[in-house]
Amino acid sequence: MNFSTSDSRKYAIWTFGCQMNLNDSERIAGVLESRGMIRTQDVELADIVVINTCCIRENADNKFYGSLSRLKPIKDGRPGMQIAVGGCLAQKDREEIIRRSPYVDVLFGTHNIPRVADLLDQALSTGGHVVEILEGPDEESPNAFQIPTVRSSLHSSWVTIQTGCNNSCSFCIVPSVRGKEVSRPMEEIKAEVTQLAKTGVTEITLLGQNVNSYGRDITKRSPLFAELLYELGAVSGIRRIRFTSPHPKDFRLETALAMAQVPQVCEQLHLPMQSGSDHILAKMRRGYTGQRYLEKVAMARSAIADLALTTDIIVGFPGETEEDFEDTLKVASQARFDGAFTFIFSARPGTRAEKMNESYVDPEVISERFERLKIVIDRSSHQSNLVRVGKVEEVLIEGPSKKNPEYLTGRTRQNKLVHFGVDAEFACEDIGGHYGSVAIESCSPHFLRGTLVSLQTQPRNRKSLPILVG
Ligand code: SF4
Repeated sequence: MNFSTSDSRKYAIWTFGCQMNLNDSERIAGVLESRGMIRTQDVELADIVVINTCCIRENADNKFYGSLSRLKPIKDGRPGMQIAVGGCLAQKDREEIIRRSPYVDVLFGTHNIPRVADLLDQALSTGGHVVEILEGPDEESPNAFQIPTVRSSLHSSWVTIQTGCNNSCSFCIVPSVRGKEVSRPMEEIKAEVTQLAKTGVTEITLLGQNVNSYGRDITKRSPLFAELLYELGAVSGIRRIRFTSPHPKDFRLETALAMAQVPQVCEQLHLPMQSGSDHILAKMRRGYTGQRYLEKVAMARSAIADLALTTDIIVGFPGETEEDFEDTLKVASQARFDGAFTFIFSARPGTRAEKMNESYVDPEVISERFERLKIVIDRSSHQSNLVRVGKVEEVLIEGPSKKNPEYLTGRTRQNKLVHFGVDAEFACEDIGGHYGSVAIESCSPHFLRGTLVSLQTQPRNRKSLPILVG
């Protein structure tokens, strides 16, 4: 492993998928930049293009193969350019990728990130493909989370606490590509968060496929997630702690109490429901019923004041009847979500759902259900936002609004998006990363609107460590 040579080639990274993949891309960038490589957004100028793939949904596969074929003519015109493919799809479809795109130089797995620069060297010297995909952590390599990392934000950061998943949801391909749950030691996570705080990060989001089972593989007893929240709450400089995602069946009272008792843990819970129908939930192998889900929501709300609740819901799971869907609407309405990621079912090869002997729901019926679900979710999110009008909310400022540059955007502790105007007295050259108090004046189902009434600037070390070594 070589982290210290001088290699000034240009690299680009394309990332598909979830926050876990974005966090992996930050570590891939760290490994490449520790060699001296320079990032470019322009693939036409890149000597190396890394595609970090996702295979959760069919359209992610399609986007990946589309992107790969766009690189082919660029590579043909630039001898010496290298293409590396990592992430879940590389893990799952290694032979297929090489068969369809023989111009790919390196395929690497999610556990091989520390070796990505070495693998590129190897491919260059042999002139052939290099495929290195481990199914679990590499005992021979440096710890995959203690390698250089290029963070995309100076004030907010993801922190992976666990990889893999021991569940077997029938629609999900993650366990077969990311392997069994492996929790990072608590001391290691705490050291990373402490170092992030020293560089000016004030908000962290803990990542895992099922954060509630964090530590089960360490203690062989009960999970340690609540304990982790208490430990991280004690790290000086961290003002906000978020996490994603807990599995409803494993969401425990001790976690809700830790959320209530650790002031840094935000009043926000993303609890993937997937369906409200007991029949469909059983087919999904989720391990709870609609009623049980609502009990978990009630438990969380009774413990945590002013909690915002979001979810994931799949529409059109094989065999979903009108009655099943109405159960989903009913449970969603009772849960009073602040927002939801809604997905149309797509069968992933190799999953139990793909092999189910059930008829698929007609696409027109799915579209109509999708719209009905959106109405229910928008209604509850609008009601929840209306309650905030007239109040003053603490906002972590992100920067100028993409839609209207006269406004800034930020997030409340409940992770609500806020667009707000700023008077001249608060004019500040680089306002992103500071905290402000915003008087909320109006809202839609998807955002709040208001005016900044006070600003608390954060001490930041702008020159410190764009590359962070854990
Ligand atoms: S909990 Fe279920 S949906 Fe989530 S990663 Fe594990 S198997 Fe997939």
